[in-house]
Amino acid sequence: MIGDEEDPPYERPPLSKEYFAGDKSFERILIRPAAFWTDRKIDMLLGRRVASIDPAGKLVTAGAEQIAYGKLIWCTGGSPRVLSCNGADAENVHAVRRRADVDAMMSKIDSINHVTIIGGGYIGLEAAAVLSKFGKAVVLLEALDRVLARVAGEELSRFYEAEHRAHGVDVRTGARMECIEVTDSKATAVLMADGERIETDLVIVGIGIVPETAPLTAAGAAGSNGVDVDQYCRTSLPDVYAVGDCASHANSFAGGAQIRLESVQNANDQAKVAAAHILGKEEAYKTVPWFWSNQYDLKLQTVGLSTGFDQTVLRGDTVTRSFSVIYLRDCKIIALDCVNSVKDYVQGRALVVAGAEIAPQRLADSSTALKDMAPVSLESAPQ
Ligand SMILES: Cc1cc2nc3c(=O)[nH]c(=O)nc-3n(C[C@H](O)[C@H](O)[C@H](O)COP(=O)(O)OP(=O)(O)OC[C@H]3O[C@@H](n4cnc5c(N)ncnc54)[C@H](O)[C@@H]3O)c2cc1C
Repeated sequence: MIGDEEDPPYERPPLSKEYFAGDKSFERILIRPAAFWTDRKIDMLLGRRVASIDPAGKLVTAGAEQIAYGKLIWCTGGSPRVLSCNGADAENVHAVRRRADVDAMMSKIDSINHVTIIGGGYIGLEAAAVLSKFGKAVVLLEALDRVLARVAGEELSRFYEAEHRAHGVDVRTGARMECIEVTDSKATAVLMADGERIETDLVIVGIGIVPETAPLTAAGAAGSNGVDVDQYCRTSLPDVYAVGDCASHANSFAGGAQIRLESVQNANDQAKVAAAHILGKEEAYKTVPWFWSNQYDLKLQTVGLSTGFDQTVLRGDTVTRSFSVIYLRDCKIIALDCVNSVKDYVQGRALVVAGAEIAPQRLADSSTALKDMAPVSLESAPQ
């Protein structure tokens, strides 16, 4: 196992949650204790970056070393997308992708009062929740007209905007930033297109990732947004598989569209599919996508993919801070976003897998459990 980070494999989700908040130590976010890898005689080549692969000779090159493979699994995730404006490379402008990013921010947290977060996706919002709990003055800038616009419907976006504002975060949507003002290599303000100057001691950029696939595509692997894989996670190169954030696959829950998923569920499940295939078992990838996000005392759990929805149903009341948004396409349930609503999440899963049709007014009736709602018609799971 070759990785360019110095640390053994660790969970990334706590980087914007419990680890960032100081509630979990690094040891507690390790995927496995160190002994696990040695017991299984897994060679860990850490701190080494693979720069190229030779699919004909079945070799990868990391630094001065060439390493032979029989089968190669490419699971390199992505690198944080960087701002293209002036000041983007100042020393106190950070992403939240690696342990080192969080450690660097935490090492100076006591001297920080004002934080500007660029990007109102899950990572930006989770960072805002942690930093506002630390008592920092947080401004969150989102270029689109609502947070979470890429992944959720308007009800959920507006709910999270209101929650963050209630916790003192200055959430600005439709925000047009111009550049970052830098003094002595440090960001001191974010300058807006309308001339406003937002004073800052720290900038966090959460504007998505770029899949890390350059060595594979240079070797001829097909793919434009990540590397393309089939249902067994095979790339177009012989004996080369790809899984996780960097793998673009036809997903039945997205109507067969070629997509990349950036979630623990997808990384784990694709890894199992690739490993099984190497062991001679053809188990096509067809798991229902799921995801979670923790902000303040709100636990969001999502199941399915809401892309392309044409109707939403609000189940429960946002005022109670326990509710679900159900997404429909052509009258069929395709996804749920459940806030502090574990039952809906657990029971809604089967409805997503089945592509169930249930009348919206019935779905909205939170006095009846989702599992007790007989569908108008049940379709078989997407192929
Ligand atoms: C802050 C944060 C919060 C998140 N929260 C959630 C959440 O709540 N729920 C959820 O489901 N998902 C969450 N995610 C997403 C989830 O962590 C990712 O989907 C998952 O880590 C993807 O796993 P992966 O193995 O594909 O890639 P990664 O975890 O990115 O691992 C790839 C590894 O490969 C290394 N690498 C890259 N290129 C090379 C190279 N050329 N040579 C050697 N090594 C290389 C990278 O440095 C990295 O160590 C979060 C992610 C982040 C960053």
